[in-house]
Amino acid sequence: MVNSTNIETPRIGVYICHCGVNIAATVDVKEVVEFASELPCVVIARDYQYMCSDPGQELIKSDIKEHGLNRVVVASCSPRMHEPTFRNACEDAGLNPYCFEMANIREQCAWVHLDKDKATEKAKDLVASAVSKAALLEPLEKKKVGVIPGALVIGGGVAGIYAALEIADKGFETYLVEKEPSIGGHMAQLDKTFPTLDCSACILTPKMVEVERHKNVRLFTYSEVKEVNGFIGNYKVKIRKRPRYVDEDKCTGCGECANACLLRGRVANEFDEGLAKRAAIYVPFPQAVPLIYTVDANSCLYITKGKCGKYPACKEACLADAIDFEQKEEEIEIEVGTIVVATGYELLDPAEKPAYGYKYDEVVTGLEFERLSVASGPTGGKILINGKEPKEVVFLCCVGSRSHEKGEHEYCSRVCCMYMTKQAHLVRDRIHDASVKVIYNDVRAYGKGFEEFYNRARAEGVEYIRKELESPLEVIKRSEGDDKVVVRTISEGKAVEIEADLVVMANAIEARKDADELAKLLKISRSADGFFLEAHPKLRPLDTFTDGIFIAGCCQSPKDIPDSVAQAVGAAIRASIPLMRGEVEIEPLVAIINEDVCVGCRTCEEICPFGALSLEAGVMRVNEVICKGCGSCGSACPSGAISMVHFKDEQIFAQMDSLLS
Ligand code: FAD
Ligand code: SF4
Ligand code: SF4
Ligand code: SF4
Repeated sequence: MVNSTNIETPRIGVYICHCGVNIAATVDVKEVVEFASELPCVVIARDYQYMCSDPGQELIKSDIKEHGLNRVVVASCSPRMHEPTFRNACEDAGLNPYCFEMANIREQCAWVHLDKDKATEKAKDLVASAVSKAALLEPLEKKKVGVIPGALVIGGGVAGIYAALEIADKGFETYLVEKEPSIGGHMAQLDKTFPTLDCSACILTPKMVEVERHKNVRLFTYSEVKEVNGFIGNYKVKIRKRPRYVDEDKCTGCGECANACLLRGRVANEFDEGLAKRAAIYVPFPQAVPLIYTVDANSCLYITKGKCGKYPACKEACLADAIDFEQKEEEIEIEVGTIVVATGYELLDPAEKPAYGYKYDEVVTGLEFERLSVASGPTGGKILINGKEPKEVVFLCCVGSRSHEKGEHEYCSRVCCMYMTKQAHLVRDRIHDASVKVIYNDVRAYGKGFEEFYNRARAEGVEYIRKELESPLEVIKRSEGDDKVVVRTISEGKAVEIEADLVVMANAIEARKDADELAKLLKISRSADGFFLEAHPKLRPLDTFTDGIFIAGCCQSPKDIPDSVAQAVGAAIRASIPLMRGEVEIEPLVAIINEDVCVGCRTCEEICPFGALSLEAGVMRVNEVICKGCGSCGSACPSGAISMVHFKDEQIFAQMDSLLS
């Protein structure tokens, strides 16, 4: 039933899409058109092969003008795909875009039914229901808000660095916040990079320096984002800057303090994956940016125990008088228009999987191998295990990836097939008489130059042994004193045992353990695998569901450096658009509170996932810029005080009446 009170008399145009044969194979489109033309208020009903095409949209535009349509219904695919397309077509023809309604007769009808008669009847019901709502639609106006011309980038790995440079180059103030004492992320730890074998530090460090020196970038290292409030165009962010106990303006990076430190050479260096030792005052690596020393508050004896046998030797060694044990945590407040999240990944801890034998000195992770092989690493680039060059080296693929085991991951980590190939090549290159075997499930060499690189490694003598996916894989020692380990698995149906001096594991790339905390802070979502979720896997891969917040690099899913950089540049450009425009349009589909009915119980405030509600003078108010119109509050309000614009009770009831009649 169409109830057309308090709006102009509806003149509705209905358009049924064939979607090629996607809809037409299961739904009798002509019959639905005939049915629609008889519905109340329908002035014209048509069908077309592809309504989203230019000629399809032209049909709508010319009918609006010719037949004076004031409501439009398109029955086609999911509104997630083409609602904006048709709204724009209406707007182009002078009709308010919110006077448009869509019926999904593809995903919700044609694709899920086999019986053509029944599918056609269902399509008619869906169209009738959309027409009933369309008759009650009200024109709405988008709001505009100003945009603060600055951006925040969280995470200073290769993705964050590129995102920050891209935004800063466009002339906007850019704040780059990095948790660790230096920017660089995992790429700074790598030796060569596949498939081109260029030196990772050589290509990364110029960019690290460039971002530090850029006149539009403000770099906060050893810092974290503590609080984020606001909405697109107007985010207020609190940054917590941890004390380095070293004055950043005075430190010259000379390292004299570290030479004087009592714990020099006694604290495991995280950057070297614990394979080298540092002092309690340190820089993670010589090319660190900024090159400022940091007192590790967890190791420094003066901080942890209140006294140190050598204190104040470190302080006195500093000719710049930079060491300051009184330094306190700082809180900095900034305001930005948009945010790019580039917080990267962690690696699965193989110690949690005893079968892989990580407790043995002869078993290392892929990242540990990078530190063993890089010239600036603890062994000066000599691959050494137990003090000697390994002659039998085995690489293990998919450790914790492509698995259904508890604590492991179903997804493919995407980079390990190629970095194992790279590392296998490096072993053959450095230790000519070494035998190198890669135990793999499938070699995934999908990128530009990858297949060629894999073929090159094989031609160099790297042996690839295929194991069955999810068949057992274990690393054991025949006797405790042995300096060899044995890898056991099943290949081509037969049990295989391979002795090795060195085993390198490709342990899974996984979402950071603190990803959930950051997701809550930013009000962005995560997918089932723990990585940050993009707004649409194909059409909005850089956006999140929160306007003005974008994602780049491995925080979204495992990926290599080229893909991380490409995504970072894309996310930065997306983040720059509102900054360039200076204002953003806000969807008017929001909650409205009936102040006479609201009793101020705050149920809605607790339930709103976006923090759009707050109590003022005993009555709930909606911040229309933050509200996403999700409807959670509306369904929770015990007083029935909340209604949703564009989804009002009478509009929904009209749809239901039509479906049930
Ligand atoms: P990351 O490098 O992880 O950087 C993220 C940064 O964000 C870090 O600096 C981190 O400290 C910071 N951060 C995290 N959380 C926060 C927070 N809350 N606040 C502030 N800062 C935060 N790729 C290739 O293309 N070629 C190779 O040869 C290659 N070899 C590899 C070898 C190994 C063993 C591994 C494991 C990976 C390899 N990769 C390689 C992949 C490469 O490491 C990634 O593609 C790249 O590092 C992704 O960069 P990112 O900036 O997204 O993440
Ligand atoms: Fe910095 Fe002083 Fe240490 Fe030199 S001695 S690295 S100037 S803190
Ligand atoms: Fe396994 Fe290769 Fe995928 Fe890594 S990239 S999880 S080694 S298939
Ligand atoms: Fe008011 Fe309803 Fe929110 Fe309670 S749940 S505060 S009654 S709007």
